[in-house]
Amino acid sequence: MKDGIFFRQPDGPKLWKIKADGGRRDVGSTNFRGSSYVKSRFFHGQKPKSISEKGKQMSEVLKNRVRDIERIREFVSPDEFEKIESGIAAGNIITVPSFADVHVHFREPGFFYKETMETGTAAAARGGYSVVMTMPNLSPVPDDREHLKEELDAIERGAKIRVIPYGAITVGEKGRELADLEAMAKDVCAFSDDGVGLNDAALMTEAMERAKKLGKLIVAHCEDLDLRAGGYIHAGEYAKEHGHKGISSESEWKPIERDLKLAEKTNCDYHVCHISTKESVQLIREAKKRGVKVTCETAPHYLVLNDSMLEEDGRFKMNPPIRSEEDRLALIEGLKDGTIDCIATDHAPHSAEEKSKGLAGSAMGVVGLETAFPVLYTELVEKGVIDLEKLLQLMCVNPRRRFGLEDAEDIRDFAVWEIGKEYEIDPEEFQTKGRATPFAGRKVKGRCLLNVAGGKLVWGDAERLK
Ligand SMILES: [Zn+2]
Repeated sequence: MKDGIFFRQPDGPKLWKIKADGGRRDVGSTNFRGSSYVKSRFFHGQKPKSISEKGKQMSEVLKNRVRDIERIREFVSPDEFEKIESGIAAGNIITVPSFADVHVHFREPGFFYKETMETGTAAAARGGYSVVMTMPNLSPVPDDREHLKEELDAIERGAKIRVIPYGAITVGEKGRELADLEAMAKDVCAFSDDGVGLNDAALMTEAMERAKKLGKLIVAHCEDLDLRAGGYIHAGEYAKEHGHKGISSESEWKPIERDLKLAEKTNCDYHVCHISTKESVQLIREAKKRGVKVTCETAPHYLVLNDSMLEEDGRFKMNPPIRSEEDRLALIEGLKDGTIDCIATDHAPHSAEEKSKGLAGSAMGVVGLETAFPVLYTELVEKGVIDLEKLLQLMCVNPRRRFGLEDAEDIRDFAVWEIGKEYEIDPEEFQTKGRATPFAGRKVKGRCLLNVAGGKLVWGDAERLK
């Protein structure tokens, strides 16, 4: 079905189609599994773009939000549509473009017990996303054509929404020799060794030069393992008081400082993963001012939590770690002044067993796709830290624009969110296999009622549409 038929002019004839089955899709399951809209193979990305034309961009997105109201009819019964319409009028329901997450871990191929394409994309669909980019710390690591094909096949088989993989920068993400970037370029969103830092500056320089020729971004997990020195939570007050090994802020910002110089020298498009420290914000702010082609992301937990909120529980452990209140406030400033371009989840599921060993022994990583919007809407928008337009800029427009997705200027995917009722986050409701989140039990607003991606319903919460 072509996108166009969902639309009508504000005062024109209705153009949506009443289908043979009575005009609605089946939303009878809260575990919707009907769509196989995917196809990373159809990724014909554009070159990375800078993120400067903010005003113009935003008005387009807002226009879409208004138009989307009529598009909803295609996917619900007349009763449900009426309910949604009155919810919108009352301010309890909003429609927004579906989100794009530039940083997730779906664990397939290699680690099915943590997550699969099917469960990962189901979580993304429930979280209101229509496109995600998967990091390459897999087995095998997508570092050449053949290894990448395993992930592409997994996407083809299992993905419910669009998934675009990263190619690794180095063979096996081992930081010793460069991967076959050229052979992977057409099917990947960018190159990254996420999960580990690339400490070899000469290798990073060569990677940037080759990525630039290919019109691709280098996306860096910045971490100096020597500086980390066995740490596992932020080297701050909490670590001191409770006798934990700390991860210094320097282990993040030092490699960023180095890479910014390399990106300036090579003129490569460069994006920094999950920044968490105030120094990182300042370094990127300054680099942007002097014209370095750099963008960056942070994640919801760094924007909402600080290390005084840590508990002796694996669900508070991820890399980089939750930092100090000062860092958190610097990240918020970075959002506001445009230093930080995207909010990504770094959705990183592990088994219950792997997350059961406290702060010291648990695996690094938490799930995030199903809590990102509720947490950010509640903590940032409702509390007046940033407005909804800004949040949509960070979650919808900028990620697509920076990674050259063809729909950045006109996002047709949309989701319908109920924002009127407060509830407690319950990991047992998640679609992801992972349960570890620092937001478990947190009171939030925001439940995704519908998510339409690529013209198909990928999530429908039938219970809440009654
Ligand atoms: Zn990372």
